[in-house]
Amino acid sequence: MKTYRFKRGGLAFEDRTAPDGCSSSIAYLPAISVLPLIQHAGPAARRLVDVGDRVSEGMLVGRGDGHGSANVHATVPGRVIRLAHWRMADGRVSEALVIRMEGSFARLGRPKETFAWEGMSPADLQRLIGERGVVVMEGAGRPLADLIGELRRDEKARTIVVQAVGDDPWSAADRAVLHERAAAVAEGMAILARAMSPAACVVAYAQAQRRGVDALVGAAESFKLKPALAPLAARYPQHQKRLLGETLKPFARDRGLDLGRLLPFSPSTLAAVYDAVRLNSPLIERCLALGGDAVKHKQVLRARLGTRIGDIIAECGGFVAEPQRLVVGSPLTGWTVADLDTPVTKTTTAVVALSREAIGGSTPRPCMGCGDCRGVCPVGLDPERLYKLILAGRPAEADADGAGQCIACACCAAVCPSRLPLRAAIGLRADRGAKA
Ligand code: SF4
Ligand code: SF4
Repeated sequence: MKTYRFKRGGLAFEDRTAPDGCSSSIAYLPAISVLPLIQHAGPAARRLVDVGDRVSEGMLVGRGDGHGSANVHATVPGRVIRLAHWRMADGRVSEALVIRMEGSFARLGRPKETFAWEGMSPADLQRLIGERGVVVMEGAGRPLADLIGELRRDEKARTIVVQAVGDDPWSAADRAVLHERAAAVAEGMAILARAMSPAACVVAYAQAQRRGVDALVGAAESFKLKPALAPLAARYPQHQKRLLGETLKPFARDRGLDLGRLLPFSPSTLAAVYDAVRLNSPLIERCLALGGDAVKHKQVLRARLGTRIGDIIAECGGFVAEPQRLVVGSPLTGWTVADLDTPVTKTTTAVVALSREAIGGSTPRPCMGCGDCRGVCPVGLDPERLYKLILAGRPAEADADGAGQCIACACCAAVCPSRLPLRAAIGLRADRGAKA
C-alpha cells in the first residue's frame, strides 16, 4: 500500500514517557476548579455569575462575546467562591471563576438522552454547536460556530479531514478518543458534513491507528458517508496543516479528487460535536495525555475543564523527580508553565513534567555549525542562518531568507546539540513579519 508523506525533513518523534493512548481513565472531579473565561482564540466570554452564586453542572456561566469568543459552562455543580485573574498557559490573562464543588450533578451518572439532528439545517447546527461552546480543541481554539458561519458564506470546495496521523506521541488523547469513541467521532464528522457541505471527507491516518479508523469508517456508513482513506507516514510534524495539504495533493491526484480547502479536525473535536448535538451536552470535559519522566504514572485522563494540573499530576501518582519544566501541550511546541494551579481548558491536549535530565540542561551553547537543523526543517529553511540574522538584529534579511515560512514545528530546536532556541526566535519572527 502506498503511504504518503511530506517532501523533506521532519522527525521520527518517539517518547517513551508519553502514554500509549490505547485507553483513557476518568479523572477525579475537582473539589476546587478554576474556570477561565478565555478558552478560545478570541476575546473573553462575558461573565454571567458572581461570587456567592450557585452553579449547576453544564450551566452557562460565560457568554461568547463576538467573533473568536465561545460560551463557557460550569463543569461541576458548586458555588463561585472567588473571581481571579489567571495567567493562562499561552500567556494571556483571563478572568476565571473559582468554583467549590458542592451539590448534585445534573448529568454525571444519569442516562444520556439523545436528540435527532438529521433534519436540522446548517444554520441550526451552527447555533447549537455555538451554544454548547464547542471549539477546535487544539491550537488557539477557534470556535466551530465561527468556522461554520464563514463556510456558509463561501461557495468554494472544501474537504473535512479527520486527523488520525499520530505523528506526535503527545497526541495520545486523540488516539484514545478514536479507539474508545469511534462511533461518536464518525457521527461528529457526519454532523459537520451536514453543517459545512464539504466536497469530500478524508481520514488521514497512520497504520498504527488503523483499528480505530476501521471502526470510524464502519460507523460512518450509517450516515451514508464513505470517507476516503489516506495512509500517511507518521512522521512529525505531519499533522501540521500546511504539510497535510502538501501530502494530500498527490493522494488527491491519484484518487481523482478535488479537495479544495482542507478542514482538519481531531477526533477530540469531532467527539465534542457529537456530544453537543446528539447528546445536547456542552463542552465541559476533555481527554488529555499526562506524562513525562518526572511523573509516576503516564496516562490519558478524561478531566473536567477547570481541573488544576497539580490535581491531575497528583492523580497520576505525583512526581518521582523534581520537575524542571512543566509543559501544557506537546514538549516540542507547548507552553511552559510555572504554576500547578494552571487549569485544564478546552485546548489542553497534554501535560508533561520533565526532569533536569530529560531537558538535558537548559543553557544554550554556541552554534557548532553541524547543519542538523537544516536537515530536519520540513519547509526547507536554514534555521542556523535565520537564527543568527535575527540575533544580529537583521530581521529584514531573515524575512528575505524565508523566516515568514516557518511553521514553528520545533524540529530544528529538537535536534540542535547546542540547545539553541531556534523555534522561539524564528517562529516569533514569522509571527511579527506576518503582522507587520
Ligand atoms: S521551527 Fe521553523 S525553522 Fe525550525 S524546523 Fe520548523 S519550520 Fe523550520
Ligand atoms: S543544529 Fe544547532 S548547532 Fe547545529 S548548525 Fe543548527 S543551530 Fe548550529
